[in-house]
Amino acid sequence: MALERTISIIKPDAVAKNVIGEIYSRFEKAGLKVVAAKMKHLSKAEAEGFYAVHRERPFFNALVEFMISGPVMVQVLEGEGAVLKNRELMGATNPKEAAAGTIRADFADSIDANAVHGSDSLENAAIEIAYFFPATDVYAR
Ligand code: UDP
Repeated sequence: MALERTISIIKPDAVAKNVIGEIYSRFEKAGLKVVAAKMKHLSKAEAEGFYAVHRERPFFNALVEFMISGPVMVQVLEGEGAVLKNRELMGATNPKEAAAGTIRADFADSIDANAVHGSDSLENAAIEIAYFFPATDVYAR
């Protein structure tokens, strides 16, 4: 497996539940290192831009409104196979279908308010990292 970097976002629902630390702990226990991080209250334009691929989907407006409803915690995770590893830690998009012990099974309430985002491919990870962090703000550790 190759050393990879991926984007994780702790969404407004999970930030409001005060479980940032519990989620970080899962990353660290799985061997993923936080190499960049910031708390951010996204503007509407930033949320729309981030989720541009979903623009035509029926849930797009609700998703954007949810993502700007409070601050999010954005981090770059680094580790062997980081993209897939983070997706496994997150669990299925719909928390009702998420495997026991995953972040979404434990902290998400619904498919809309589902606690975390994670890049779904290495290609998208590179795009999403660049969307939030200048290269100088991502640290080798
Ligand atoms: N989403 C939603 N309703 C749906 C499907 C998706 O609100 O029916 C939201 C949900 O927050 C999800 C995001 O849109 O996390 C992006 O959807 P995607 O299918 O890419 O899921 P993910 O990669 O986040 O698991």
